[in-house]
Amino acid sequence: MWIRRSRRARRLSVSVDARTGRPQLVIPFRVTYAEADQFMQSESEWLLHKLKELPPRIPFEDGAKVPLLGYKCCIKHLPLLPPEVNHEGHELVVGGKNDEIKHRITEWFKKLAHQKLTELASQKTQDTEHRSPVVTVRDPTTRWGSCSKNGRLSFSWRLILAPPSVMDYVVAHEVAHLSEFHHGPNFWLLVEKLCPSYRRSRHWLTRHGAKLLRYG
Ligand SMILES: [Zn+2]
Repeated sequence: MWIRRSRRARRLSVSVDARTGRPQLVIPFRVTYAEADQFMQSESEWLLHKLKELPPRIPFEDGAKVPLLGYKCCIKHLPLLPPEVNHEGHELVVGGKNDEIKHRITEWFKKLAHQKLTELASQKTQDTEHRSPVVTVRDPTTRWGSCSKNGRLSFSWRLILAPPSVMDYVVAHEVAHLSEFHHGPNFWLLVEKLCPSYRRSRHWLTRHGAKLLRYG
């Protein structure tokens, strides 16, 4: 459990990090540890339920099955090969030291995600009055993409693990925000224009999104 004292928090709260599965307790400055302890006891059932609900964690290691654009790939570690990642058929072959596999594969996914998301975003903006946006990839836990006021788009690199239609929808969603800030009827009309099958992908994310956060 990660415990954090906060000057800004107004009340006790407990949450679970969707990536690591680590619970986090936030204690406002004026609340005592005894009160926090009592709070945790009252929340223990909820916390257990939340932890049970988490999909299994799948670390990037030799033999792990990971989805790449929705297709299952198997990680194969060959320590004598140079420290890089190669996608060969149904395998992701990674060389170099064992303790660097996770970092190397994550960086490889991020780079590929950035490339695909940038391509898609510039394709989709061609149908609008906007210029190709600047795209960055991050690892957020509560959203798949975001659009800043100055027109920069940011996405979760984990979308590279989802089927291509899902990535397509998330890009369409953020590109639509370049024209329509709020999720009103005009916004969804524009999303549909940019990605006609968006409803299916949105549903996929609701059902399977949490699994994507458990890789790595
Ligand atoms: Zn939105």
